[in-house]
Amino acid sequence: MLLLNGKKVSEHKREELKKRAKVFKKTYEREPGLAVVIVGDDPASHVYVRNKVKACEEIGIRSLHHHLMADTKEEKVIELITNLNSNKDTDAILLQLPLPSHLHAETILSHINPKKDADGLTIENMGLLFAGRPRVVPCTPKGVMEILKFYEISVSGKNCVVIGRSQIVGRPMAQLLLLNDATVTTAHSKTKNLSTLTNQADIVVVAAGKPNFLGADDFNKNAVVIDVGIHRLASGLCGDVRFSELKSKVKAATPVPGGVGPMTITMLLENTLILAEASAAQG
Ligand code: NAD
Repeated sequence: MLLLNGKKVSEHKREELKKRAKVFKKTYEREPGLAVVIVGDDPASHVYVRNKVKACEEIGIRSLHHHLMADTKEEKVIELITNLNSNKDTDAILLQLPLPSHLHAETILSHINPKKDADGLTIENMGLLFAGRPRVVPCTPKGVMEILKFYEISVSGKNCVVIGRSQIVGRPMAQLLLLNDATVTTAHSKTKNLSTLTNQADIVVVAAGKPNFLGADDFNKNAVVIDVGIHRLASGLCGDVRFSELKSKVKAATPVPGGVGPMTITMLLENTLILAEASAAQG
């Protein structure tokens, strides 16, 4: 089985992004800027934000971290987003999810200027992706495509099954595969006979959010298995797939950790650069 090493792909990609950030700085005499907005004290979110800020520093993106208290009113979060929309040093805005329960992610996201939407989650950017003209696309599915590209696994004409239909993973994942000429089936919680579907697939992207959900019996021996799931159990980190069962049972697979996870932040850095370059070129 070929191990699809997301950490390695991520390191390779960051070298490329570092060069791109350098060219940006030389051309426009400033660094690309990413504003990260986090509301509340969710420990996992704070770890993610710290990692994002560190990754930005390493490749030459200026990151601004805005931490709001857990009880901040929706109007205040929107006010901050509106200010960032008009701040010319901010090229991209990331709203760290999940939000405290009194806040509505969709409402707040709708206030982000789509030309500064680092995660590609505004309706305009989703619409562009679904129309086949992507501007910036959600980081995790974008990272999956990058892993496939690195290992020269073409999706054209392949039978692909995406498990999950969330806004941040499943739906954009299916669209990216379609855009690259795959034949795509989206499975979800109401799908019947899932194992029959996955057994027929050339490529399976698993984003069901269920620890150790699928194993060797769910794939054929030529399958490429991409596990997006990530779960912190008492026994350690695991994905949606029982990776240890896959050795010599499938063609290629991503591990957890070290698979899709490391790609997500790297794709955030790339989205920031894409937005910064587009905005700087417009003057
Ligand atoms: P979600 O809970 O929003 O969506 C899960 C999807 O799985 C739903 O669309 C649901 O219909 C589907 N599903 C649930 N049970 C199913 C079943 N029995 N059969 C088929 N489909 C089923 O989750 P999400 O935000 O899309 O995230 C999915 C997983 O990916 C989670 O484990 C999450 O932690 C992980 N994730 C990882 C990264 C990363 O950077 N690696 C980023 C985002 C999400």
